[in-house]
Amino acid sequence: MSERTYSEWQGAASNLQAALAASQRNAYINGEFQPAKSGATFECVNPATGHVMAEVASCDSADVDIAVSAARDAFNRGEWSRSDPAFRREVLCRLSALILEHREEFALLDTMDMGKPIRDTMNADVPGAAAIYNWYGEAIDKVYDEIAPTPPGNLALVRREALGVVGAVVPWNYPLDMATWKCAPALAAGNSVVLKPAEQSPLSALRLAELATEAGLPRGVLNVVPGFGETAGQAIGRHMDVDCLAFTGSTEIGKMFLRYSGESNMKPVWLECGGKSPNLVFADCDDLDRAAELSANGIFGNQGEVCTAASRLLVERSIKDDFLGRVLKHAEAAQPRDPLDPATTMGAIVDSAQADRIMGYIESGKQDARLVTGGERVKMNGSDCYITPTVFDDVAPDKRIAREEIFGPVLSVIAFDSEDEALKVANDTRYGLAASVWTNDLRRAHTLAERLVAGTVSVNTVDAVSINMPFGGFKESGFGRDLSLHALDKYTALKTTWIRY
Ligand code: NAD
Ligand code: MN
Repeated sequence: MSERTYSEWQGAASNLQAALAASQRNAYINGEFQPAKSGATFECVNPATGHVMAEVASCDSADVDIAVSAARDAFNRGEWSRSDPAFRREVLCRLSALILEHREEFALLDTMDMGKPIRDTMNADVPGAAAIYNWYGEAIDKVYDEIAPTPPGNLALVRREALGVVGAVVPWNYPLDMATWKCAPALAAGNSVVLKPAEQSPLSALRLAELATEAGLPRGVLNVVPGFGETAGQAIGRHMDVDCLAFTGSTEIGKMFLRYSGESNMKPVWLECGGKSPNLVFADCDDLDRAAELSANGIFGNQGEVCTAASRLLVERSIKDDFLGRVLKHAEAAQPRDPLDPATTMGAIVDSAQADRIMGYIESGKQDARLVTGGERVKMNGSDCYITPTVFDDVAPDKRIAREEIFGPVLSVIAFDSEDEALKVANDTRYGLAASVWTNDLRRAHTLAERLVAGTVSVNTVDAVSINMPFGGFKESGFGRDLSLHALDKYTALKTTWIRY
């Protein structure tokens, strides 16, 4: 694919903007777009410019009811839920190909909707989503069920069955990818889905559902209800005819989903929530330059709006000043710029509320620690949603910026003197999503990998994520795993059939 220039992206963005402005973006239910029953809409804003991109249907419980009954009806018809797995493979692989065909459109939708760099959406988010539909499509006609050992004259089958209607509620930091992490395995297993994208970034999910129909997904199997958490999100959570909830977002809202389930029909709830991931750098690491580059990328990539963000940098005291100097070079090179420029590595913060929140943490950091770079909110292109890469040194582990998830480009540096101390500080958190260790000592690497409480431990890298590895958390980072064949466990139940002959 030929690389587009900055001015070509600007031209493409204004064309897309004009097309979106021409008509309201509606919910996608039962294979067609429809406005919210109430007629309500909300404004979808591009945080890089402050411009309104589109008016979007604001769904509430009335619309969720319609979407859930369309999903239930599709499940009962069986065109998808009881189809040959080879058919599901074909449709999901076709959807994957369609996403790649529309790569630039999806890249622009997510870049303009939430402010992340076009080079990330083009090179990672969009091809990543396509790869995941392909992977689950290819997997689903190759997973086998079980036959249990029984006395002679008996046959006991253990089969995975789709659950029915899956409700998926996702955040804005990777709009297309977070929707895909839920939808691809849920659909592959034969479920119907009602998806609520975040109110900050609803556009790519709506386009995805339309393309799924084009790929051959029967009507009602994938429905998208844009809207707010308290209305559309809560209605999905409490719905008596939703069979399973798949949520990615904050720990606070994750806990609400557990309540919604307990107060309604006891549907299983799967939660991918926040993090405050430690990144441990030992003096025996033999490539401090690479460690510094990936450590900076691990907190400044995606504007720091990453659940696994390596937001706590724990460095052995003997190399701390040297290592911090190397990290600062990368921090200073990562200044925020227009996300449409293909050279940009840090774009805009998703909205001004999130930028306010991040600035609040920066103010508390200035009281509690030593600001070494950044800490500024910059106005650009008519928007004040840009924040410079920020590093605090000499952070005591009990301070707010060392404990709470900031979800922005803010790094807290903590020095340690021993492996035991590093481990203790690393695990002293309510979260347990990811951790990294940099060392050349095999014993140390394995010992820490065992003892760090995190769903993913990366050794001599940061934030290792791959479609064929489970992803998820311990503790208040949630439970259940996205990606890999293990994700199918969330969207299926085992049925035992015992035949005595
Ligand atoms: P959020 O929890 O506020 O929102 C996530 C989703 O939940 C959105 O769709 C939102 O509309 C919905 N929601 C909000 N209030 C709700 C309610 N009362 N009832 C039902 N639904 C509701 O989080 P956010 O601000 O969108 O995203 C930032 C958070 O998400 C961070 O804390 C981050 O750690 C977390 N996150 C986690 C992962 C992960 O995989 N673990 C990935 C991305 C983001
Ligand atoms: Mn937006």
